[in-house]
Amino acid sequence: MIEATLPDSGAAPAPVLSPPGERPTLVGLSRERLTALLEQAGVPEKERRMRLSQLWHWIYVRGAEEFGDMTNVARQLQTRLAEHATLARPEIVREQVSADGTRKWVLRLPPRGLADRGAEVECVYIPERDRGTLCVSSQVGCTLNCSFCHTGTQKLVRNLEAWEIVAQVMVARDRLGDYPGKSPPEGAFVPTDGGRFVSNIVFMGMGEPLYNYANVREAIGVLTDPQGLQLSRRKVTVSTSGVVPEIAPLGAETASMLAISLHATNDALRDELVPINRKYPIAELLEACRTYPGVSNARRITFEYVMLKGVNDSLAEARAMVRMLRGIHAKINLIPFNPWPGTQYECSDWAQIERFSEVIFDAGYASPIRTPRGRDILAACGQLKSDTEKMRARARLMLEEQLALGTD
Ligand code: SAH
Ligand code: SF4
Repeated sequence: MIEATLPDSGAAPAPVLSPPGERPTLVGLSRERLTALLEQAGVPEKERRMRLSQLWHWIYVRGAEEFGDMTNVARQLQTRLAEHATLARPEIVREQVSADGTRKWVLRLPPRGLADRGAEVECVYIPERDRGTLCVSSQVGCTLNCSFCHTGTQKLVRNLEAWEIVAQVMVARDRLGDYPGKSPPEGAFVPTDGGRFVSNIVFMGMGEPLYNYANVREAIGVLTDPQGLQLSRRKVTVSTSGVVPEIAPLGAETASMLAISLHATNDALRDELVPINRKYPIAELLEACRTYPGVSNARRITFEYVMLKGVNDSLAEARAMVRMLRGIHAKINLIPFNPWPGTQYECSDWAQIERFSEVIFDAGYASPIRTPRGRDILAACGQLKSDTEKMRARARLMLEEQLALGTD
């Protein structure tokens, strides 16, 4: 088995973690990990830089899926690479397209050992007139238990490797035909400004990105590489429930945009809704926002606020929010609560959301209400949870019923 090493450990990083006897994929790897793989494949040191830039171009610009497609790479090296690695993407377990064009993919990640059957994650593509946003997951499940979030109820939890985060973007681009020279599949959203289908990335899928910071940082490095996927750092947004110690490093080391899941204006309520608040209360969180590296009027922090009927949606709370964000370069994003089976919450009435938004708007803040997208395929904020976990439970139940009935 090849062991993964974190990039800041000082040692050269190994290519990627893979189960015994399996070849790792190169898709999603950083320059450092690809270089390590070239070394392992016996490429002489003086050639490595050139080979790396060829591979990088084929993987991230052209979306190559076979080493044989890499026409400027010598046949002998193609064979050697194929002996050591693949260009495989995570398996698409399910692809769903919502009536509003939102697409959701459930991906199965390669098993990490003999006992592992392969964890599953979801990513969601949201096409809009001026952009295409991909919402990626950073963990399988989430260890935090925000009371209104479906992901928090999932039991199986592990951090995603950096390549597993990047691979979500690669799969989306594969499915959208988002490579130069390849024509998009029928029905795909086509950007009107000549831009890419996937122009923005938000870490708002499953998991708490700042509990997996080293891998998220490495993934952002690959996503924003100017010779590769070329996403603008200003179009990468990391959403956190408030892991305060990682906020400053995120700004300093990745220059990405920050979104904070605020959801309450006092500690008593936030303790209940976003329990990490007990560890890092509102005052500490807001201080980290005030001093977020790179924050400015043009690069504002987004404060997300989920609208829960009768819980946090009074106009007094709207006014309290305006007061507490004074002095911070902020914009406020109101998210209508997306219900999920078994939740105790309801979404605020639309009229109340509008009144709430007006208070914020009148105080000088942009206060867009996030239109729920993909609700019909459970792809909206906070609805993500590997369905397969539920399907497995259902399959187990059916099996037990069959056994009880004596059928097969
Ligand atoms: N863990 C990170 C990012 C993932 S959640 C975080 O909490 O910020 C992305 C956003 O969706 C967060 O603002 C989260 O609070 C919100 N969210 C979670 N469940 C929701 C639901 N059921 N309806 C609406 N928004 C929800
Ligand atoms: Fe985790 Fe974010 Fe959901 Fe909270 S809202 S449980 S931090 S994914």
